[in-house]
Formats: sequence, C-alpha cells, structure tokens
Amino acid sequence: MSGMKVAFGNLQRHVAQHRAEYDAAVARVLERGWFILGSEGEAFEQEWATAVGARYGVGVGSGTDAIHLALWAHGVGPGDVVVTVPNTCVPTAAGIEMAGARVVLCDVDETTALMDPAALARVVAEVRVRAVVPVHLYGAPAPIDEIRNVCQSVGAVLIEDAAQAHFAEYHGKRIGGTGGTVCWSFYPSKNLGAFGDAGAVTTDDPEIAEQLRMLRNYGQERRYYHKLRGTNSRLDEIQAALLRAKLCYLNEWTFRRRSIAARYRSEIRNPLVRVLGVPQNCDSSCHLFPVRVAQRDHFIQWMRSQGVECLIHYPVPIHLQEAYRHLGYRLGDFPCAERLCAEVVSLPLYPELTDNEVEWVIDCVNRYVASAPAP
Ligand SMILES: *Cc1c(COP(=O)(O)O)cnc(C)c1O
Repeated sequence: MSGMKVAFGNLQRHVAQHRAEYDAAVARVLERGWFILGSEGEAFEQEWATAVGARYGVGVGSGTDAIHLALWAHGVGPGDVVVTVPNTCVPTAAGIEMAGARVVLCDVDETTALMDPAALARVVAEVRVRAVVPVHLYGAPAPIDEIRNVCQSVGAVLIEDAAQAHFAEYHGKRIGGTGGTVCWSFYPSKNLGAFGDAGAVTTDDPEIAEQLRMLRNYGQERRYYHKLRGTNSRLDEIQAALLRAKLCYLNEWTFRRRSIAARYRSEIRNPLVRVLGVPQNCDSSCHLFPVRVAQRDHFIQWMRSQGVECLIHYPVPIHLQEAYRHLGYRLGDFPCAERLCAEVVSLPLYPELTDNEVEWVIDCVNRYVASAPAP
C-alpha cells in the first residue's frame, strides 16, 4: 500500500458520487427563476428542523450569521457578556462580536475538549453573563444538561454552536432536538455541506423563529414594511435545493464516518498517539477525528512522508489570536484549551475514504516513532 496518497478532504469525490442529482437540483431552480426566499428554502428549513427534531428552522447565510442572528433574536447585544470556549474556531467568537456582545472565555474539559460546566459556573459567579455558546466541537456533544443548569441559575440564554454536529446525538436525541436555539453551518466541508456558504438556526420557539425570519431579511414583516432593524443573511434557493438533495444521504454518510472513527479508535495502538474521549451517552457526528501527539509537527511530517495529509483544529486558541488581544487574556489563562491546541492533530475522516485508505492511515499512525531526543 505504500505510495498511497490520502488527502485530508476530497470534495471532488464527494460531488461525483451524486452529481446527476445535484445538476438536477440546480436546473430545477434555474427553470423556476426564483432565487431568494422561495419554495426550496422553505422546504429545506422544514426538512432540516424535522431531521434534527426541532419545530422551526430558519435558513441564513452562514454558520457565523446563525450565531449572530440567534443572539440578536434573543435580545443579546451591546453591553452583554457571552461566554464560549477558547479552542473553537474563530467564527464562534466572530458571531458573538457581530451581535455587539463581549466575548468571555471559559476553559474546557481536557479529556473531551468540550466546555467544562464547572469552569462555566466559576465564570458566571464572577461576571454577569447574558448568554452561553457551547460548541459541539469535532461533532461531540457538549454536556448540555449541566451547561443549561448553570445558565438557568443566572438567567443566561443557551445558544448551541452545532456547526460540526449534524446528526450527533446527546442522550438519545439528535443535537437540535433538545429544545434550545441551535446554530448550524453548511459550509462545504461540514458533514452536510452546501456548494457555497449557508447556515441555519433551529428552535422550538415560534417567536424566536419569527424574529429570525425578519432579522435575516432587513427586518421586514411583509414586503417593504419593516418591523425591526435587520440585516441581509439568507439561504438562497440553489443552496437549499442542493442541501435537500444531500440531506437524503446524511444518515448513510454519518454511519460511514462513525464506522471509520470506530476503526481508528480500536485499531490505533500507538501509545504516542492518544484519542480524545467521547462524552457518555453521546454519539459524535464524527466531523473530525483529532488525536493528541506531544511532538505534533514531527508527527504531521511523518504522516505527510507516508502520503497522509493531517490538519490542526485549531492551532491557536481564541485568546491568543492576534485579532482577539482586546479580550485581555494571556498565555496561561486557559491551561486545558492551551494544552489541547498545542497537541491536537486531525486524521482524514470522510465518508468517501476507501477501506484501503483507512487501513493505510491506521498503519502509518501505528508505525510512527518519536524523534530522537536532541543530543
Ligand atoms: C464552520 C464553523 C462555524 C462557522 O460557520 P460558517 O458557515 O463558516 O460561517 C462556526 N463554528 C464552528 C464550530 C464551525 O466549525
């Protein structure tokens, strides 16, 4: 098998699999000649909400916008504090700041990389918090029940960042089906990805859904009558039609992702490469498969030398990003997140990987040896 090349992702393969259906979906929209806020978008919103177990779905322009608009719809804005985790990708923080709120961070549980409810309890004891945005990072559900308890104790709103958690399950229910306001991204490389930018918010609350529908469409209640000051962030008809075509396969794709992840878990036996824990009673969407390696750069080079591409999610925590210096944090403020960001590296994981490719990745990981200590 040597000489095999395993790319970190392969959207060409992904598109080729059902290409005719995607072409037909686009053609249908072009023939109809209606491109924004039409029947495809409405159908997808309902199908997505039903698929995850929520009453309402509202399509928006991106996952970042979903977070921004969800906070806005809940009345969170300038002067408010919103808590999230340091080891997420930057859009979580960007969405919070777009709402005008101040980002406050809370450390994660080092075994799962997810928001630590005990750390959150310490944060809410110190500052007045209006909202909390836990991230179901890598597709693994954050401990929502414990986080919701902390939120309720101080009257904070819970908004979930589920951009990586399509069809992840928490205590037997899909993420999105536990009653809260949940933000989705359909960025092309997500488990359900559009062929461009797209996002959604799901909720059981009819008023929040109504607010979101207005906010994404310049605050219009009906044509040219503006009830709110809103913005422009909509899911277009072409993306909605493509997402509908893909949604039929999401179960199958998730099953394949999980079976690859299960093989990684059971067959990777190199003590230098540690897998992250999945929280109890949860099933990850397996969006990413991060492992922890002390000599990470050395490991990535080794994998590359064997033809396997690995990426880091994410190398720099929010509080140490150049753009987020204004948050006022320093190195050492979130030790668990910092250690994770220094050691995590993601192995290729997508439904179109062949069994041979999966075997090759496992084989390369198991043959990895540490670099010799400096003399
Ligand atoms: C992808 C992602 C987002 C942002 O989604 P976009 O659609 O790219 O704006 C937000 N949060 C997390 C955790 C993500 O992975």
